[in-house]
Amino acid sequence: MIKKLLNKNKEYANLSMVNNFQNNSLDEKFWMNCPECKKNIFKKDVEENLYICPKCDYHLKLPARQRIDLLIDTGTFTEFDKNLYSKNILNFPEYENKLNLYKDKTNENDAVITGTGKINGLNATICVMNTDFMMGSMGAVVGEKITRAATYSIENKIPFIIISSSGGARMQEGIISLMQMAKTAQELRRLSEYKIPYISILTDPTTGGVTASFAMLGDIIIAEPKALIGFAGPRVIEQTIKQTLPDGFQRAEFLLEKGFVDIIVNRKDMKNMLFRIIKMHGYQEA
Ligand SMILES: [Zn+2]
Repeated sequence: MIKKLLNKNKEYANLSMVNNFQNNSLDEKFWMNCPECKKNIFKKDVEENLYICPKCDYHLKLPARQRIDLLIDTGTFTEFDKNLYSKNILNFPEYENKLNLYKDKTNENDAVITGTGKINGLNATICVMNTDFMMGSMGAVVGEKITRAATYSIENKIPFIIISSSGGARMQEGIISLMQMAKTAQELRRLSEYKIPYISILTDPTTGGVTASFAMLGDIIIAEPKALIGFAGPRVIEQTIKQTLPDGFQRAEFLLEKGFVDIIVNRKDMKNMLFRIIKMHGYQEA
């Protein structure tokens, strides 16, 4: 991990040098504009602050592996199905190239990481979607991994957690990707039959087929502040219903007010919140 971070820093440094040589914009490699408050922030400060803007508390995207480090006790995570990868079943043009490109870029085989670990000593199964891999889109592998992880929760009688962040179903897998909505939903129904809690955490952005299936099926639905959560984009909705949408539409706070979300939790408090919810359901440290 540290090695990877160092390499990343090296990459920044190298890129900055090239950039500096070309257009003197060294600053851009170390500084960024917060998309919310628009203030100039030092990238390193943002990274060290769990990708939360230090000026306005805006929650930027947290890389999936870091999300696991944040929520799961050190050294307790066992990953499932790391080697499952998608195939170009429909012969969609350029899909294989795209998959290979993202595999190289992210060092992951698809858009979700699943596994089991402990949250302050309590067992849980956890699935973390990865927007760095094809916008966290859901194809056959994402659906299969989430379904298998839910099965593990049922067999081992431990709580189930999904942290969603996704652009929706993966269009390159057509109907196969849409089928994942039903497939994941039926296994979540089984979780509920066995009375095992499913906690869904919505992060920025949770959209499309993911919102329309497992993300909204949580027994408890938590969102990060200001996360974009929706099915279709606002422009499509406005064109369809021919009405102007209210301010803050599709943000976590709006959905909380309308009852779609149970609670909004700051990223820094998320682990403790999960611990409290699991404990409340009678689970004990094993
Ligand atoms: Zn900010």
